[in-house]
Amino acid sequence: MRYHSTRSREFSVSSAEAIVRGIAPDGGLYMPEPFPTLDWQALLCAGAKETAAAIAHAFFPELADMRALVRSAYTGKFDTENWTPLREVGECYVLELFHGPTSAFKDIALSMLPWLLRRSRAQTGEEREILILTATSGDTGVAAMRGFADVPGMKICVFYPDGGVSAVQRAQMVTQEGANVRVAAVRGNFDDCQTGVKRIFAAAPALPGTVLSSANSINIGRLVPQITYYFQAYSELLARGAVQPGGEVNFAVPTGNFGDILAGYFAKRLGLPVGRLLCASNANRVNADFLATGVYDRRRTLRRTDSPSMDILVSSNLERLLYMASGGDCALVASLLASLAREGRYAVPPELKEAICADFWGDWCDDAQGAQTTGRVFRDNGYLLDPHTAVGWTAAARYREQTGDPRPMVVLATASPFKFPGAVLGAIGGGMAGDEWAQMERLSAISGLPIPANLARLREKAARFPGVIDIADLPRFVAAFGEGKAWPA
Ligand SMILES: *Cc1c(COP(=O)(O)O)cnc(C)c1O
Repeated sequence: MRYHSTRSREFSVSSAEAIVRGIAPDGGLYMPEPFPTLDWQALLCAGAKETAAAIAHAFFPELADMRALVRSAYTGKFDTENWTPLREVGECYVLELFHGPTSAFKDIALSMLPWLLRRSRAQTGEEREILILTATSGDTGVAAMRGFADVPGMKICVFYPDGGVSAVQRAQMVTQEGANVRVAAVRGNFDDCQTGVKRIFAAAPALPGTVLSSANSINIGRLVPQITYYFQAYSELLARGAVQPGGEVNFAVPTGNFGDILAGYFAKRLGLPVGRLLCASNANRVNADFLATGVYDRRRTLRRTDSPSMDILVSSNLERLLYMASGGDCALVASLLASLAREGRYAVPPELKEAICADFWGDWCDDAQGAQTTGRVFRDNGYLLDPHTAVGWTAAARYREQTGDPRPMVVLATASPFKFPGAVLGAIGGGMAGDEWAQMERLSAISGLPIPANLARLREKAARFPGVIDIADLPRFVAAFGEGKAWPA
């Protein structure tokens, strides 16, 4: 099996190289050819670790001893025995993906990526240290710092917009332990942070002895670990008799960069009986509009919503879907993405739209509708949704209503409600007074749920990285970190 770009088959690389490089030289995303096969039925009674190892082995066959790697990645990280418990809530099943170390679903992939990178680096003969540079508007930076902390041979440096992340997210980053992590707030917005990071990549090799890499979700090593929980959910439904062997299950996925939902599509292509994948957007509805019209149009203003981790106008992993649904038509993908770069939009041929809509269904809702859903689900079922998950539930409820599709529906819960206590309290009529810490306590009192331990501990932890820097200082900040020097000097 080799990996090549979604935009051209010209250069192919091993799976280890695809993981180390992250993005193909022509700007495309790496895809395996042929697409892996897997004895997926054998996995249905396996545990999470076994399943994760088997799937990762199918995609990255030359990486040695995947089981050991999975153990290193996940041991001791989750607060529940089953990493991703499935709860029956009213008409739906909720797949809770937030029991990891930072209480968001990104933990599942970002626990594994550092170990995949480390093994890939060793097997490609790369001797330099890997330095991960990430600009974040919240969850990615938090989960990436936690995932990379103290992984040998790796360093991670994260930038976030000063005042642009929640108090909880900031506390999660500035208190992160580990000798190989560093983070700074940047005077500017998220785009400024991202532009600053891109400049450092463009200027490479700026740091002798290191290779720069990124932790964002275009890396195939970040996508593949997410397939595991679709299998786990299906096994669990089988075990409960909620689905008969071979029966199909629908999944509703709160979507931003299209990574999480694409993992569900990968699961389907591996053979798992997945029915419809519901792509749920917030008011930044580029993906929902695309699924409705076949036109992807980024020419609009980004809105800030209550589900900030889905505030996105360019959904990178959609490129992989275009590739797969067109039967691997690299020339078509290249021309669509060139059109996006040139004109800010593209329109797919009707037969491609039809192929995509056979598997996907798009919908969106705004903050008010999401809050209404959260309020209703809490009143009716005593279950708390975070604002991202509420977007998924809203789409699931509407889909049911409009189609009458009787297949079981699993809603992916991507964050703990305690990560966004203000919005959740507002939605359930709990009063939003006080800072986020007071809000977490009130939410706990109202719901009877404990505050997740990693969040409860944060308040007492000392800030290791309280610094705020100017955008112009990014290169020097990174250089100082790369050389093991303190900042400010
Ligand atoms: C990142 C994130 C999402 C969106 O996932 P994608 O893979 O980018 O589509 C949804 N919810 C939460 C809480 C997230 O952190």
